[in-house]
Amino acid sequence: MIRKNNVNPVPVKDIFNKFSIEEINIKGKRVFIRADFNVPLDDNLRITDDRRIRSTLPTINYAIDEGAKVILSSHLGRPKGKADPRLSLAPIAKRLQRLLNKEVIFSPDCISSQVEGLVSKMKEGDVLLLENLRYQPGEENNDEEFARALARLADVFVNDAFGTSHREHASIVGVPKFLPSAAGFLLKKEIQYLRGLVENPVRPFVAILGGAKVSGKINVLENLVDKVDKVIIGGGIAYTFIKAMGYEVGNSLVEEDMLETAQRIRRKLKGVGIKFYLPVDCVIAQSIEPAAETKIIPTLEIPKGWRALDIGPASVKLFSEALHDAKTVLWNGPMGVFEIDAFSRGTFAIAHAVADAYALTIVGGGDTDFAVHRAGVSDAISFISTGGGASLQLLEGKELPGLAVLANREDLIRRTPVDSTL
Ligand code: AMP
Repeated sequence: MIRKNNVNPVPVKDIFNKFSIEEINIKGKRVFIRADFNVPLDDNLRITDDRRIRSTLPTINYAIDEGAKVILSSHLGRPKGKADPRLSLAPIAKRLQRLLNKEVIFSPDCISSQVEGLVSKMKEGDVLLLENLRYQPGEENNDEEFARALARLADVFVNDAFGTSHREHASIVGVPKFLPSAAGFLLKKEIQYLRGLVENPVRPFVAILGGAKVSGKINVLENLVDKVDKVIIGGGIAYTFIKAMGYEVGNSLVEEDMLETAQRIRRKLKGVGIKFYLPVDCVIAQSIEPAAETKIIPTLEIPKGWRALDIGPASVKLFSEALHDAKTVLWNGPMGVFEIDAFSRGTFAIAHAVADAYALTIVGGGDTDFAVHRAGVSDAISFISTGGGASLQLLEGKELPGLAVLANREDLIRRTPVDSTL
């Protein structure tokens, strides 16, 4: 396994120079940090994976060290505007306490006179965690009054919730309208890697896309047309491309309404000399079940009634060889139904191939992140994004609402009364 921790991201103009947390004097200030602590919990409400909490620690520790009064906030799950004890942030307060090795005060609400009381008693370096923001309907509705109430708790807003920055929610786009605002370290790092990838990748640049939804990946391909050198398509989305070329794919996943688009994109990429790889063989079964009978067959010979659920060994070899000269690799989307062992080999083999590539390797969030961890190669990946939807949106070349609002910070400062020491 090649360690690539010394591989730097592509240098890009640091858009955060003016509005990074380091540019604001936060000593003694009440700093409202919007984090993404949306972690998985088991039936006993135990956190099964705390990476999202850990990834915000640099920002939290920095704020503590600078002597800020640190107010943390996040959503968890989808309580739909009502209190749901199963989606309380209380277990997160406990985990944070262990990770920070200091007391974390837990506020049983995010706006109330009780919260205001707790905040007013905070001293420099104290940490307070607010209850689930989505217990309040105003969060997802981006209600101005709710945003104003959150803003009243603090002097400064810091966004470190990359995974939620594509959402126009009150704590992402509303609160920064009322406070001087800045980006935390995680948000900066995400943008630096992902923007670097779409703006100025070191070439050859190979993009590997998989997963289930063609529609979610097409815009990424469109945006990368003049940046990428090779495109590898695996996972369920491959069969829409293959069917669009006029071949039978049995019962494999196909997005009928994307057939024309898939064919157009493939032609467009090939037309400008980009190498386009599809699976040459696949693992098929008649149903998506752990005990289903499986066969490995050439992709163009999928029989009626069978469906392709993983790439086969010849595809793994072909795709891995395509990575040999890569200097930049982006991987988003599993190569098969990797949640089931019988269809997981292709995804794990590609995880190893990406980890072994001597390149800047960037893995999109969500399932691919999980696959890389399950394969045990996460340490050998240059950067693993913490946001699925948000990272795709950036790779599509779209602005994230949570970022756009920070970019207007100077304007915001003019519109809101700000302490001159900030
Ligand atoms: P996405 O969110 O689009 O990245 O899709 C991830 C999902 O794609 C995973 O849950 C996989 O089980 C699924 N997937 C990957 N390959 C296939 C396939 N060949 N057929 C059906 N589903 C697939």
